[in-house]
Amino acid sequence: MGEAARRWLFGDQLGTHFLDDDDQRVLIVESRAVFARRRFHRQKAHLVLSAMRHRAAELGERCEYLRADTYREAVKGSAGPLTVCHPTSRAALKLVQGLPGVEVLPARGFASSMEEFTTWAQGRGRRRLLMEDFYRDARIRLDVLMDGGDPLGGRWNYDADNREPPPRSGTLGVPGPWWPEEDEIDEQVRHDLDRWERDGDVGFIGRDGQRRFAATEREALEVLRHFISERLDAFGPHEDAMLAGDPWMAHSLLSAPLNLGLLDPVDVVRRVELAHRKGQASLPSAEGFIRQIIGWRDYVWHLYWQQKPSYRDQNALHATASIPAWFAELDADDVRARCLGSVLADVRDHGWAHHIPRLMVLGNYAMQRGWQPQQVTDWFHRAFVDGYDWVMVPNVVGMSQYADGGVMATKPYASGGAYIDRMSDYCRPCEFNPKIRVGEKACPFTAGYWAFLHAHQDDFRGNHRMAQPLAGLARLRDLDLLLEQESERGSQAP
Ligand code: FAD
Ligand code: SF4
Repeated sequence: MGEAARRWLFGDQLGTHFLDDDDQRVLIVESRAVFARRRFHRQKAHLVLSAMRHRAAELGERCEYLRADTYREAVKGSAGPLTVCHPTSRAALKLVQGLPGVEVLPARGFASSMEEFTTWAQGRGRRRLLMEDFYRDARIRLDVLMDGGDPLGGRWNYDADNREPPPRSGTLGVPGPWWPEEDEIDEQVRHDLDRWERDGDVGFIGRDGQRRFAATEREALEVLRHFISERLDAFGPHEDAMLAGDPWMAHSLLSAPLNLGLLDPVDVVRRVELAHRKGQASLPSAEGFIRQIIGWRDYVWHLYWQQKPSYRDQNALHATASIPAWFAELDADDVRARCLGSVLADVRDHGWAHHIPRLMVLGNYAMQRGWQPQQVTDWFHRAFVDGYDWVMVPNVVGMSQYADGGVMATKPYASGGAYIDRMSDYCRPCEFNPKIRVGEKACPFTAGYWAFLHAHQDDFRGNHRMAQPLAGLARLRDLDLLLEQESERGSQAP
C-alpha cells in the first residue's frame, strides 16, 4: 500500500471538520509573501497567523508547519502525496489544481454542497437565483426550524419583525460579547509582525489591539455558547440598528471564526435551533440568525463559484474615482460626518463593523461617490478581519456597489441620511442634518444620494423599484445648487 496522503490545510480550513480522523497527518504553510503583497489590517494579519499557529500547536507532532515564501515552494519541498479540501478562492484553486501530487477534495465548511446548489439553481429555469428561495430549500433539505413539511411557526421569514430602530436608551441592555484571552502564541505573533514591519517588506493599516476574535475551535465554541445564552434573543429585533457607543450590539462575532473554518455552520444552526426549542430565544431571533448562516453565507459562497471569473471586474455603474487616502488609511479623525467617522474608527480599531454599517454607511458612501468597485472590494478585503475573496467579491461587487447591474440585489443599496437617522443614534449630535441637502448643514449622505440618483437616472429608468426615487428627484427644485455643492466636495472627507 502507498503512503497515506497528508491533509494540506489552508489558513481558512482549520476546524476538525476539515480532517477525516483523529490521526490524520497535516501540512500547514505560513507564507510571509501573502502579507507582503497587500496592506492588510494589522489585527487581521494577527488573527490569521494566531489561528494557524494555534492549530499547529494543537495538532503537535501530527502537523508539519512550514514557513515559506510561497505555497508552491513549500509544497514542492514537502514529502509525500497530499489531499486538500477545495480552497476558497479561484486563485488558490488554480494553484492546487496545477501542483503534482495534490488531490483536491470537495469543499467543506458550508451548509450546502456545490452539487446541492447546482441542483437547486438548475431547477429554477429562467427564474432569478433568489436568496430567499435558496434559503427555504436549505431549511427543508437540512430539516432546520421545520414542523414536518412547514416552517416552524408558520412563516419562513421574520424580517419584518427584525427591523426595529435602536432603543432610545442608547443601549440594548445585553451583556457584551465573550472575549478571548491572548496567550504566548499571540505574543509571538505580535513580536513577528512588529519585526516584519520594521524590516520594511510588510506594512499594515489599522491599529493593533487586543485580539477580539476567536482563533481556536475552543474559543469559537465559547463565543457561540455565550452568544446563544446571553445575546441571541436580542439579535433579531435590532439586527439592522446601529449605536454609536456599541459597535457589537447583539451580533455574534462569528464571521471570523466561521471563515477561518473553525466552526461547522450546520452545527452552529442546530445549536441555535435547539436554544429556540428550549425557550431560550424567540423564533424571529433564531430564524433571523439561521437565515444569515445557511441562507446568506452559503448563498454568497455559491454565487462566487456560480458566476464567471469576470464577475469580480464588473462595473455596471461605470464608477472610476479612486478611493481617497483618508478612507484608504482609515483616518477616522478627519471625518466630521458622525456616522462615517464612527464606523471608520470601528474598522480602524477592530477591523470589524456589523452588516448595516458596512452596507449602508461605508458601501453606500463609496457607491454614491463613484469609487471604483474593485478598489472598494480590495479595501474591504484588507480592512476586515473576516474578509476573504469568496465573501468580499459578491458582497461588495454585487450587494453593496451594484456593480453587477442587479444579479444579487434588485436595486442599489443607496440611501440618504434619513435611513441612517431612523436606524441609529448618529445624527442628533452630528454637525450635519439628515433632512438638509444644500448648505453648510447639508448631510453628505442625503446630498450624495440625490447626486448619485441624478448621475444614474438613465441606468435606473427601467427598474420599477427605482421609479419612486426618480420621481422624487424630478421634484427637487434646488438640484443645480446641490450638484454644484457635491462636485465641490469632491473626494474630501465629509
Ligand atoms: P451576525 O450579524 O451575527 O451574522 C451571523 C453570520 O451570518 C455571520 O457571522 C456571517 O457568517 C453570516 N453572514 C451574514 N450575512 C452574510 C453575508 N452577506 N455574507 C457572508 N456571510 C454572511 N461577511 C463576512 O463573513 N466576510 C466579509 O468579508 C464580509 N464582507 C461584507 C462586505 C459588505 C460590503 C457587506 C455589506 C457585508 C459583508 N459581510 C461579510 C457580511 C456581514 O456583514 C458579516 O458577515 C457580519 O457583519 C459579521 O459579523 P457577525 O459575525 O457578528 O454577524
Ligand atoms: Fe451621518 Fe448625515 Fe446623520 Fe451626520 S446627519 S450622522 S452625516 S447621516
